[in-house]
Amino acid sequence: MLRNKSRETIAVANGIGGDTAFGAVTPPLYLTTTYTFDGFERARTYDYTRAGNPTRDVLAQTIARLEGGAGAVVVSSGMAAIDLALASLQPGDLIVAPHDCYAGTWRLLNARQAKRQFDVVFIDQNNEAALGAALARSPKLLLIETPSNPLMRVVDIRKTAERARAAGARVIVDNTFLSPALQQPIGLGADLVIHSTTKFLNGHSDVIGGVVVAAAHKDFEDLTAWATTTGVTGAPFDAYLTLRGIRTLFARIERQQATARAIAEFLLRHPAVSAVHYPGLADHPSHAIAKSQQSGFGAMLSFEVASGVAGVRRFVEAVEVFTLAESLGGIESLVAHPATMTHASMSVEARAEAGISDSLIRLSVGLENEADLLSDLGGALAAAGGIA
Ligand SMILES: *Cc1c(COP(=O)(O)O)cnc(C)c1O
Repeated sequence: MLRNKSRETIAVANGIGGDTAFGAVTPPLYLTTTYTFDGFERARTYDYTRAGNPTRDVLAQTIARLEGGAGAVVVSSGMAAIDLALASLQPGDLIVAPHDCYAGTWRLLNARQAKRQFDVVFIDQNNEAALGAALARSPKLLLIETPSNPLMRVVDIRKTAERARAAGARVIVDNTFLSPALQQPIGLGADLVIHSTTKFLNGHSDVIGGVVVAAAHKDFEDLTAWATTTGVTGAPFDAYLTLRGIRTLFARIERQQATARAIAEFLLRHPAVSAVHYPGLADHPSHAIAKSQQSGFGAMLSFEVASGVAGVRRFVEAVEVFTLAESLGGIESLVAHPATMTHASMSVEARAEAGISDSLIRLSVGLENEADLLSDLGGALAAAGGIA
């Protein structure tokens, strides 16, 4: 096992050359569902793949090390990861969530509340008074998602986690938008970190997956036991592909965020654009916090067109290199219209409260040539036109 190595090295090399059967350099893919016993009452390390699998374990261990956690549980999707992280809540318990959280998270929290499995309060976590009032209700959990989707608002993890802890709440951070390459919430006070590995960690838009990383060993054991009980653990082949994706995480994200910055600056100067949301820009309201707790500004941004919904339609119909699709974090650049796509399942009022306007367009910046992406955006903005 690699000790005291940088995160880049762990991403590339964790598990390499560890095969004891044949000395395979790449960790093998074990598709088996079950394992032989060595003899009567002599179970080996693994007995059944729902409970444990060597391929999935290399992935879990790699992500745990990248996040600086005691252990990680690999599950079948990001939503399954969030649901697993909520499993400790009981009827009457309260969770504090961001008002502008991922729409699937918003739907899950509301659905579980409707079944009276726990209570939820959605707040703007940068609003001191709202946070204070929510924490005064003695919540069991506080969920942070930073930067937020799609407006890229940043929450100060250290400060918010300290306040939550003082109120007796445990802290979960959804680190999907940055990945451990750019942000490590456990070092900032998180108890659990969750990811949709579907996004930057796998990075190739070909696996749905999730992970819960625990800071404490006891939490890791409890999460492992519950994931085995409910059967949400991830498939070995998915784990194999996701580990393959992680090998290039740092190289991908560095290049993608460099292009994202160039795009943000280009959009800022463009007359057809009325607002740009990218924490890397000096005038973004979260710029200072982002700079202090992240090691990069990431490859996600959003902007508003001056020409309204009609302009949005002309824009998305004109792009050629960007592809109109939900999701993010892959090698290919995607464009999404949150109001009708990713955030359509939120109520109109909830969208308005979160500040998601109908003119907002979200970009996930990929690995294509920067000049090609800029000229694609320039052409689409010309088609979108100026003020409606
Ligand atoms: C995509 C996403 C999820 C859900 O993950 P799935 O893998 O689609 O289930 C959760 N949180 C954030 C921030 C996401 O972007």
